[in-house]
Amino acid sequence: MNAISVDVETNDKLKKAKLENGFYNIIDGKRVSAGKTLSVVNPATAKQLAIVPDIDSALLDKAVGAAQNAFSEWRAVPTSRRKAILTSMLNRIGDHAAELSVLLTAEQGGPLARARSEIDLLIKAFGPALMQMELHEKEQEVPESLDIFGRSGAIGHVTKRYTPIGVVGAISPWNLPVRLSFGKVLPALLAGNTVILKPSPFTPLTVLRIADYVHDLLPPGVFNVLTGGDDLGPWITSHPGINLITFTGSTFTGKRVLESAAATLKRVTLELGGNDPGVVLSDAEPEKIAQALFDSMFLLSGQGCISLKRLYVHEDIYSRVTESLVAIASATKVGDGFDPQTRLGPVQNQLQYKRLQSVWEEIKRSGAKVLFRGGVPTNTEGLFFPVTLLDNPPDGSSFVIQEVFGPIRSIFKYKNLDEAIRRANDTSYGLGASVWGNDPVQLRTVASRLEAGTIWINQHAIRNPFVPASAYKESGLGVEFGQEGLETFCNIQVIAAKR
Ligand code: NAD
Repeated sequence: MNAISVDVETNDKLKKAKLENGFYNIIDGKRVSAGKTLSVVNPATAKQLAIVPDIDSALLDKAVGAAQNAFSEWRAVPTSRRKAILTSMLNRIGDHAAELSVLLTAEQGGPLARARSEIDLLIKAFGPALMQMELHEKEQEVPESLDIFGRSGAIGHVTKRYTPIGVVGAISPWNLPVRLSFGKVLPALLAGNTVILKPSPFTPLTVLRIADYVHDLLPPGVFNVLTGGDDLGPWITSHPGINLITFTGSTFTGKRVLESAAATLKRVTLELGGNDPGVVLSDAEPEKIAQALFDSMFLLSGQGCISLKRLYVHEDIYSRVTESLVAIASATKVGDGFDPQTRLGPVQNQLQYKRLQSVWEEIKRSGAKVLFRGGVPTNTEGLFFPVTLLDNPPDGSSFVIQEVFGPIRSIFKYKNLDEAIRRANDTSYGLGASVWGNDPVQLRTVASRLEAGTIWINQHAIRNPFVPASAYKESGLGVEFGQEGLETFCNIQVIAAKR
């Protein structure tokens, strides 16, 4: 693998992405450039796609000031009007969906159809679902009979209100740049907050282009988007003018975010890494579930937080499951996302690619048996990593304990369910898990013993905008999606009037 080239890409397929229009930050309703820039690279070709501003702390201060100034006006806008504005934003994104999908494939690497589905998921599912949610004031019934310090029903007439928190700092990763960025921005704005969004420096282009298209629909300062290098995240999490951080990224970074936010006691929501297990029961039908297992394991080329990362299969059906998975892997094309035959794209960035190479060295040292290691395109500088299936690697290996964020997956044979559940739960992560089989009672029993925020039965990695996503252990703090997710962007205020 040669070093990343910085030739600008001139591929015909990229014409739709309108790269020549350039990319800007949005601060206080205006396009902003910076003296310094960052380079954004297509992982399928290793060629530069575009440059984006690398802003300094003075521009962050300016954005925070604008967001603070805009807060009092925006919080006073009736919710129905805020929803109308956010719906216009979704419509405008829809008007540019074809262009945005090309841009997303170019920077993120996955197949074009997947990029389109990420945009569609936002504009047709997650956005509209949010518009059906409410943050109404609620009367709370308090039993009169309670004796509190000698007074019955002492608190009186109680009203619970959801009030906006202020300026929200939203920080997102590179694996689902659009969905994870706007999955934060939309509920934050709906709740009446103003926003500073920082996409990953590896994949800022589609988010910046969307911001460019929609920012004029909002009052200046309500929605600001900034790009920068390694300092920008810590500047945001420690900034005294920001009141809440909503972060999605690795557990390693999440811990730093929490530490940094503590100094000003910001509200913090963390959606972090996962090492999801799947348990296949002895009555499962291997040939029937193999494709769904494979898709869950290699979601986003294995770069999905809730991708299935460790598969535990009962010994009676182990060989049928592994044979089916190997057959599917052999037929799966890894390549450039613009090739319609491509099912799995490249690894998104050089840093991640190098991490996977060292995982592979570790696998070789461990002597773990390799069930399958697929082919990748040749004569390319792209970051293509082979689909790799491991057969019963040692439980304590670093590549079993740690999240492997790429197309390497481990399959384990188990004899009895207690052992499978113990091994599945033996991790510091707790994002998702799944159980696969036929007996509904046994499926529910096993599901309830797994330690994760979401347990799927006969499926994996399915999210729904109405359903809260939370985490156990070191996979996160707080809730995203659903009514509960929307409420995390609010203070809960109680008004208690003496009767
Ligand atoms: P990352 O933690 O390296 O970066 C995430 C974001 O944080 C980026 O925008 C980055 O620039 C910024 N950042 C880096 N250092 C920072 C700091 N000290 N302070 C503040 N911000 C900082 O993660 P990544 O490599 O971009 O994404 C992959 C990780 O994200 C994986 O671990 C994956 O499981 C996780 N993820 C979790 C979810 C979820 O919903 N739980 C979803 C997607 C990805």
